[in-house]
Amino acid sequence: MKIQLEQIQSLPKILLHEHLDGGVRPETLIKFAQKYSISLPRTMISQLKKWFVDQSKGSLEYCIKAFDLTCSIMQTIEALEQIAYEALVDAAKDNIIYAEIRFCPTLHTKHGLNLHQVMDSVIRGFERAKADFGIEYGIIICAIRSLIPEINYQLAKLTSDYFGNSVVGFDVAGLERGFPLTRHESAIKLIHTNQIPLTIHAGEAVGIESISEAINFGASRIGHASTLLSGLTEKHQHLAHYIKTKNIHLEINLSSNLITGVVKNLASHPFIQLYQEGYNLALNTDDTLMFNTTLSNEYFIACNEYNLNLDDIYKMNLNALNSSFAPIEKKTKCKNKFNYKI
Ligand SMILES: [Zn+2]
Repeated sequence: MKIQLEQIQSLPKILLHEHLDGGVRPETLIKFAQKYSISLPRTMISQLKKWFVDQSKGSLEYCIKAFDLTCSIMQTIEALEQIAYEALVDAAKDNIIYAEIRFCPTLHTKHGLNLHQVMDSVIRGFERAKADFGIEYGIIICAIRSLIPEINYQLAKLTSDYFGNSVVGFDVAGLERGFPLTRHESAIKLIHTNQIPLTIHAGEAVGIESISEAINFGASRIGHASTLLSGLTEKHQHLAHYIKTKNIHLEINLSSNLITGVVKNLASHPFIQLYQEGYNLALNTDDTLMFNTTLSNEYFIACNEYNLNLDDIYKMNLNALNSSFAPIEKKTKCKNKFNYKI
């Protein structure tokens, strides 16, 4: 029997890859844009939603321009707290029981907030959502490949300061081409020195060498990894073997990869082959606003396209929970809420 979207919505789920600045509610953007006199390309909710998806079509570079708009509004304590609150409320409404949401605090200091004010505002919003809806969360602080190494080092220090207090891990995000991880060696080294879990965006638009580099830099999870199979020459066979045997988790983003043109169509996405070959992976939203999606929708798309069933959804969510950066007690608490009837 074909799985319905409502059925997936009712299942407890785990989200590991969502950007705070990529998941703002359009109505909230409109509200703050009016308040702060920031001009928007569209002022109607439906048109603004469409504008974001259109911006992301066919190119990661354009997609990053759409983030400039959301970030221009996320520069006050009030906006950050509300946007964080709503991100987690929206996740809870989709029956996500544990969400890891990531962002780069430096991008929110353009109008005078310091890094601690940014962090504290976001944590306040998340804590409020947790109190109201019972959803568990973890923050991943993002370094950005194109930022200067000193800023990313500062972000690694900030992660170290907040680690264990809402913050669960560190990510290196942003455009891969032209921005190798070697530029940010000192930031990543500090993360490892402090035994902080690390995920890295890699193999989104650049080939398998980028995934190889992320693994060499000690990532225990890879964001996207879309080019893992397409670049699998004899030279890189050992890399695929390593990823599988070391249980490196792959954070897959179907709608994101389709809309930005990383893959031509879902049939050519490596996800299903990776899943069938037993890689540790799960589905994610990446940016609910930019790709007009939800986690339930991502699993619904996968069920339709690849003929998956409830058992597959359960397995992937269990993968996500096991590979999350949550402390063990939180994992156990969430596992007890996994009421799948398979
Ligand atoms: Zn991402």
